[in-house]
Amino acid sequence: MRIYDDRYERERLRFQVAMHFIRLEARTRTIRLWTGLTDDRIRKLYRSYLCDGERPLPRHRGRSPHRVGMFLRTARLRQQTSMLASLCRLSGAAPEHPAASEHPTAPGHAAAAGFTLTLPSLMRGAQLCQAYEVYRALTPEPMLGFEHAVFLLTTLAHANELVYGVCRDCRATVVVDHWSLRPARCTVCAAEADVELTGRRATASSPTGASARPSLPAGRESVAAA
Ligand SMILES: [Zn+2]
Repeated sequence: MRIYDDRYERERLRFQVAMHFIRLEARTRTIRLWTGLTDDRIRKLYRSYLCDGERPLPRHRGRSPHRVGMFLRTARLRQQTSMLASLCRLSGAAPEHPAASEHPTAPGHAAAAGFTLTLPSLMRGAQLCQAYEVYRALTPEPMLGFEHAVFLLTTLAHANELVYGVCRDCRATVVVDHWSLRPARCTVCAAEADVELTGRRATASSPTGASARPSLPAGRESVAAA
C-alpha cells in the first residue's frame, strides 16, 4: 500500500509540475526533461489546460536561451539575474554544491559525469517555479522568461561560466562571471563605486584641487533604486 501511495504522490507531483511549466510557457523539450513525460502526454496536458478555460498561451518554438552573456549585459539584467538566482537559492532549487566546486580542477568534468542528467527533478522543478513566480511578483518589468530561469539555474549548477558571488560592499548575493578578475559588486554598490571613482578623478584633475563629486550619472538613479 505504501508503495502505491508513494507512486501516486510522485505521479501527482509530476502532473502538477508539468502544468506549472505549461502556465509559465516552458518549451515542450524543457517540460519533457524536467518531468519525464512524453511529448504526447505533454500535448494532452496542454489541451486539457485549454479545456479548463484558461487563457491561450503562446507556444514558444526554436532553441531555448543558450548564451550566458545576456544575463550580465546591462545593469538591469545583472540586478534581475542576481535576484532570480537568490530566489533559486532560497527556494532550494539551486544545488547546495555546484558541480565545479566538486570538481575544481576539471570544470568540464561535471557534464561528462552526467551532472546535467541529475539536475532536473520534480522537486527542483516545483522549487524553480516558486522562485520564478516570486521574481515576477517582485519585479515591475521582468526581463527574464521562465526558460531563462531554467538556463540560469543550469548554468549556475555547472559553475563553469557564471557563479554565485557576494557583493564586497553590502554582502548581497550576486551572479558574476566565473573568470572575472574584478571584485563582485551588486548594481547599487557598483553605481556608487563609479561615482566615487569619477569624483576622485575630477578632484585630481581640478587645477584648484577642489572636490568635484558629481551627482549620479543619467540612468544610474533607476539602477540604484531597483
Ligand atoms: Zn552591494
